[in-house]
Amino acid sequence: MKSLLIRDIVLDNKPADILIQGNRIKSIGRRLPKNAGRTVDGRGLTALPPLFNCHTHAAMSLLRGYADDMRLSEWLQTRIWPAEARFSRDDVRIGARLACLEMIKSGTTFFNDMYWHGRAAAEAAEEMGMRAVIGAGFIDGGDPARGAAQRRMLEEVRQELSGFSSRILFAPGPHAIYTVSSESLRFIKAFAGEWGLPIHIHLSETESEVNDSIGAHKLRPAEYLDSLGFLGPEVFAAHCLHLSEREVDLLAASRVKIIHVPASNLKLAAGGQMPYRALTKAGASVLLGTDGCSSNNSLDMFQTMKMAALLQKHAANDPASLPAPDAWAMATAVAAQAFGIDAGRIEEGRLADLILVDLDRPECAPGYNLAADLVYSANGYCVDTVVCDGRVLMLRRKVPGEEEIIADARRAARRLANA
Ligand SMILES: [Zn+2]
Repeated sequence: MKSLLIRDIVLDNKPADILIQGNRIKSIGRRLPKNAGRTVDGRGLTALPPLFNCHTHAAMSLLRGYADDMRLSEWLQTRIWPAEARFSRDDVRIGARLACLEMIKSGTTFFNDMYWHGRAAAEAAEEMGMRAVIGAGFIDGGDPARGAAQRRMLEEVRQELSGFSSRILFAPGPHAIYTVSSESLRFIKAFAGEWGLPIHIHLSETESEVNDSIGAHKLRPAEYLDSLGFLGPEVFAAHCLHLSEREVDLLAASRVKIIHVPASNLKLAAGGQMPYRALTKAGASVLLGTDGCSSNNSLDMFQTMKMAALLQKHAANDPASLPAPDAWAMATAVAAQAFGIDAGRIEEGRLADLILVDLDRPECAPGYNLAADLVYSANGYCVDTVVCDGRVLMLRRKVPGEEEIIADARRAARRLANA
């Protein structure tokens, strides 16, 4: 079994060595045996759990900066959807590789994705060494024939991904209640139950989604999903900006995981407010994500932690709302637990996923409070080295093949923009 020794790092304010065997942390201590297969010198670096990006559309990295500062419906209809219609399977792989590169370089080792050509995104994550839940985007537009085709697609992608490593998981990704029929939502719930899969959906992103739901079903979006028997602990719902008190209680009681996506919500002026205090008070888990690169436009989870914390303080008119340690936990341990991944903490026996952070950079000095430094002043450039599943993905800020990944993405983007 391959072993990796990370020497002379700081862990919980104390000097330590970390010995990794295979994909697990074997031991943590001082002066561990030096006969490991590979040694990483950690002097001057602090070991921390990596970040979990819980809502992405990775391949949309090819549309970063392609259309900005526009109203949501115009942005989608005139720019994003026509460009996405030109995406080939290869474009999805190239875009997802660029996203993986950016995530690794900013300390993220896990992403919860939703897009089509699931196999292409899975290949990118597999090759780059990350963990991912590959959500197969599902839209039927209320058309029964399209619904049937999408159901076959789900089964195909499920089978294709079963051949990948244990780092790659599969999830049905029903886009939203306004793009997927109730029949398909019921089917997806049963399908996920049959195979023990998570479900990734957008929920209550805009006020018009709420109004349309009330118009069509006389129910608000979360109430409507509840009426279909859809809610449950396997459901990961991104956005959740326009929730009534009753919806907060419904989501918490059903143990739905809420994914807060602050940068995308601010940029697209989605309105509303993710009710963090009410949700956590009711017992719900709240996680963090970036959303795709055309609505953020960054995949740096350090930015997302900061924005989440500031947004809650501003909305609650209370600077004690969403303190830094909570934002850090949402992006690490809480997310790992929500997805059933035995990481998120650096402990003996757990999966060997960790980052080494350079706290000697000016933005982290003088260093009074680690959580405050990480959430309010650090950024992805503070991450020096990244390990996932026992494998070094970035060493001294270098990821193998990064120039080629960026060149491929530029080429693909030029073709998409000029088509
Ligand atoms: Zn999204």
